[in-house]
Amino acid sequence: MILHQPLSKAIKTTKSHLDKLQTLGVNSVKDLLLHFPRTYEDKRNFTSVSEINTNEINNIKGTLISIFHRKTKNGKLMSKGIFEDKTGKIDVLWFNQPYLQKILFPGTRLVLSGKAKYAFGKSTMQSPSFEVLKKDLTHSGRLVPVYHQTEGISSKWIREKLKPLINEWIKDLEEFLPSKILEDYTLMNYAEAVKEVHFPSEEKRLNRAKYRLSFEELFILQLKALQKKWMWQNIETHERKIIKQSENLSKLIENLPFTLTNAQIKTYENIKEDMQKPYPMSRLIQGDVGSGKTVVAGLAIINAINAGYQSAVMAPTEILARQHYNTLYKLFKPYSFNIQFIAGSTPEKIKKNIVTGLKTGTVDLVIGTHALIQETISFKNLGLAVIDEQHRFGVKQRSVLKSFGTPHLLSLSATPIPRTLAMTLYGDQDLSIIDEMPAGRLPIITRVVPENKRTDAYLWIENQIMKGRQAFVICPLVDESDVLEVKSAIQEYEYLNNAVFPNQTIGLLHGKMKSKEKDSIMEDFKQNKINILVSTSVIEVGIDVPNATIMLIEGADRFGLSQLHQFRGRVGRGEHQSYCFLFPKNQGEDSRKRLKSMAEFNSGFKLAEIDLEIRGPGEIYGLRQSGIPDLKMASLTDSDTISKAREAAQKIIDEDPHLDKYPRLKNKISSTDDVYIKD
Ligand code: ADP
Ligand code: MG
Repeated sequence: MILHQPLSKAIKTTKSHLDKLQTLGVNSVKDLLLHFPRTYEDKRNFTSVSEINTNEINNIKGTLISIFHRKTKNGKLMSKGIFEDKTGKIDVLWFNQPYLQKILFPGTRLVLSGKAKYAFGKSTMQSPSFEVLKKDLTHSGRLVPVYHQTEGISSKWIREKLKPLINEWIKDLEEFLPSKILEDYTLMNYAEAVKEVHFPSEEKRLNRAKYRLSFEELFILQLKALQKKWMWQNIETHERKIIKQSENLSKLIENLPFTLTNAQIKTYENIKEDMQKPYPMSRLIQGDVGSGKTVVAGLAIINAINAGYQSAVMAPTEILARQHYNTLYKLFKPYSFNIQFIAGSTPEKIKKNIVTGLKTGTVDLVIGTHALIQETISFKNLGLAVIDEQHRFGVKQRSVLKSFGTPHLLSLSATPIPRTLAMTLYGDQDLSIIDEMPAGRLPIITRVVPENKRTDAYLWIENQIMKGRQAFVICPLVDESDVLEVKSAIQEYEYLNNAVFPNQTIGLLHGKMKSKEKDSIMEDFKQNKINILVSTSVIEVGIDVPNATIMLIEGADRFGLSQLHQFRGRVGRGEHQSYCFLFPKNQGEDSRKRLKSMAEFNSGFKLAEIDLEIRGPGEIYGLRQSGIPDLKMASLTDSDTISKAREAAQKIIDEDPHLDKYPRLKNKISSTDDVYIKD
């Protein structure tokens, strides 16, 4: 417990320093011990003065043979000295470091580290960092850790304070990983690893220490996720909802107007097996927009209803929920299911009837929005819950579903993220990936359009519209405010309406509109009463307008790859060839790469991988706001360690899901943040 004592009790420092540390999340002794370096500077080797290279950082060891301090004409304090080792002398210069007067004297033995400048026939070390030479060096002569800094807290300061703390406290960092995990994965002990990352003894051991700490982080995430999954599947009160595939389902598959893709079949096989087990399914289907997830979910629903259970489909917005309703309604024509729709806008009277129907069991399938998980709703016998774009719901959905009697749970996601990342973020679900588009679908042709081709592009679009097609125009992202974004969309709308396409009907959609207004615009667009729809980036994911074949994105360089890909997914849904035009405003190297990848690849998974490479996971998935844990050491792209950590976590859960044998681990888990993406 003593490790948790506030830092103020353990080190001598000022209130202002403590406050700054707090902004780094460092409050206690333990926090500081676990404040890991960002990177290292290799200061193991010293250069001799005669070999100083002006292009790189030099570490030199020797004696200050003279030093003087004086004010320059413009009031700066200049400290100038001469430094010497066996091979030669060099000038040293510092500005505005008054405390040097108290530390540096002629004869002081020093280590200097910094760049040298060559001018007027001689080299000068310019404001090098330094350390007074002693046996046990902290800031030089070794692999020196560099920390995440904040204003006023330097790495040097942290190293200085950490040194005595480590020596005093490190033994109190108790190992919390089970010894068999340490053995099976040849992991370094906790205390040793923490010490090693701050004070590396050698490169090999440092790497082992970093591995141990990365492993541990991923292991904890996986353990939490797998424990959650275990809990979900082993809830004592749950009724066994064993759902065997019904005969006429095979017939339905035969009678579909299309042949299922292999990926769809495989995913459905997974689901079928899951549903026959005596515990609830917990599966995530990931698949690009248009890959046919809804149909697969539809088969699972038919199966559940035929077995005598109710089903529910929940989507994050009313438009999407309604779209599911329409698709499934059509798919289920051959059956006499009682299907209902429920959303915030559903009139009370109808809602009441649906609520009664769900309770008594006369309603077989309900499709809707959050309205579905309101307290008034209860099911007679919910067998299957399908959740679309689950990450857009809050964290509570699952606990609410529990109160519905733990149905089989199927989540759908069109957000393509690499498998390893999904394993970490959604580790409590089994994963099926639909990585194949239905046959015969024409790949969307994507072009990056330079400004001087804009008029040609407009003419071409007009021509397509004359042929009956429709277009989306996405306005640039405006960071500063929603209001500005709306304003720019309105401007774009007016410009296109008056100056470019005076003969076409143009619609406008933005986030400040009432949802009724939005719905009616979307409806008009669906019915081809609007030829061109101008929209801000807020337009809904998954809107299905097969006749829209053109997606024009303004300021395309401002968007991330996954978002561009989501936009593009609005077209290419029908029989006609579709096109995506990217209009960049300014192009940096990263955005050029992104847009080029867009033109080259149609697979969202491929693009997600590229995005991950270009930007790292933090930016893409908005680490902080999304609640993805802010990993200190591990990388969400380190698939090898992720797999090993998951395997290790599974071993422990298989052995003791409640972790009673491992109290320290249990404690650790309850004190780390949730893995789930929060709203
Ligand atoms: P998603 O939800 O994955 O975006 P949907 O399930 O809505 O995709 O399917 C998109 C469209 O493709 C729908 O019109 C659906 O009927 C159709 N579709 C689904 N599977 C196939 C298939 N195997 N072959 C042809 N069309 C398909
Ligand atoms: Mg969908």
